[in-house]
Amino acid sequence: MQFDLSPELAELQATVRKLAQERIAPRARQIDETDEYPQDLYDLFVDAGLTGLCVPEELGGAGAGIFGLALAIEEVAKYSNAAALMLLLTRLPTGPLLIAGSEEQQRRFVTPVATGAARAAFGLSEPQAGSDVMGIRTRARRDGDDFVLTGTKCWMSGIRQADWYCVFAKTGPVESRAHDSVSAFVVERDRPGLSVGTIDRKMGVKGVDTGELLLDDVRVPAENVVGEIGGFRLAMLGLNAMRPIVAARGIGLAEGALMYAVKYVQERRAFDRTIADFQGIQWKIAELATEIEAARLLTYRAAWMADRGQFTKESVPFLSMAKYYATELGVKVSGEALQMLGAAGYMKDHPLELYYRDAKQLTIVEGTTQIQLGLIARGVLDRDLWWD
Ligand SMILES: Cc1cc2nc3c(=O)[nH]c(=O)nc-3n(C[C@H](O)[C@H](O)[C@H](O)COP(=O)(O)OP(=O)(O)OC[C@H]3O[C@@H](n4cnc5c(N)ncnc54)[C@H](O)[C@@H]3O)c2cc1C
Repeated sequence: MQFDLSPELAELQATVRKLAQERIAPRARQIDETDEYPQDLYDLFVDAGLTGLCVPEELGGAGAGIFGLALAIEEVAKYSNAAALMLLLTRLPTGPLLIAGSEEQQRRFVTPVATGAARAAFGLSEPQAGSDVMGIRTRARRDGDDFVLTGTKCWMSGIRQADWYCVFAKTGPVESRAHDSVSAFVVERDRPGLSVGTIDRKMGVKGVDTGELLLDDVRVPAENVVGEIGGFRLAMLGLNAMRPIVAARGIGLAEGALMYAVKYVQERRAFDRTIADFQGIQWKIAELATEIEAARLLTYRAAWMADRGQFTKESVPFLSMAKYYATELGVKVSGEALQMLGAAGYMKDHPLELYYRDAKQLTIVEGTTQIQLGLIARGVLDRDLWWD
């Protein structure tokens, strides 16, 4: 067993840490207040080669894997979860193509994301079907060599900047709950019939929009099918492999929040001493620091597993644990850190109220906490996770 980062990953971590401290931290509050897409930070990520982190070198990426991307996201999320989401979006929509796309699809669609020439978004959720993914109603009807897509996707992150969308649609009967009734498609933004609908008014993670994708008889060639027809499994594999990446947003946020609060309580005085001198506060710091390290271990192991291709059913409980624990921890630590600042924590002069609002997104996206708990329990019941 080896707990040290490789020299390459340690260097990546140090580089992104510096970038995050110098360039991202000063922008975080502004992004939240203006709710404008931080194009400057996207350009920064492209220049630093971070948009291709988890894309293999032969496709124009850095080949740092899911581990490398998770490490970078952890650093960025210490200061801005919106910026961390921008990095996450280099993998979420490209994941199904990297797992099962043809070489031609990978070159046409994934390489431009890696180099910064294009952006993409992921369309699985629909107004009536979030956790219940088999309830999607977007249809893809075969017509000669083409497919014609009709339906509405919602809550899609990065929708306005995306040049193409990874869209899941029913190729079997709409009412069917059979996995082979759903297929994945690449749909380019300029296809006739495609439009962006309502943009959501969100509680946090502002600056990177979520919104509706409207598909009104959008025609795509069969070569835009990702993997095989009926390849719904791709959605699940793609999301399984994403668990450590979402988890990294949670641990980075928790680390950033706790570091901020610790500095504050070491300065703030009450009852003739600093607040940090109170044992009640010290125990809280110790408890949260321990949980952060536990979440980091779960997350790093999950990333290591995902990079070894361990994101099929047997690995699900380990991947889901990282996502569940690290994102719930983000909510817990940001709330406790805010409390340590008292009234100051509630004010926008300090970043903790922003962390607190941002954290809540993490327990909902890409499989809610309850869905992760169900998957972990299923893993134990099926003995995928067992201790003898
Ligand atoms: C900011 C943001 C960004 C998003 N970005 C994207 C994106 O880019 N692409 C995309 O496709 N989707 C995206 N989503 C959607 C997200 O994936 C869904 O919100 C999520 O899957 C939950 O679905 P839902 O909101 O319909 O909740 P529901 O499925 O309606 O669930 C409601 C509640 O019931 C609970 N619940 C549901 N089923 C069970 C069960 N079996 N057991 C116990 N509890 C259960 C849930 O945990 C939840 O608490 C985004 C959402 C948000 C908030």
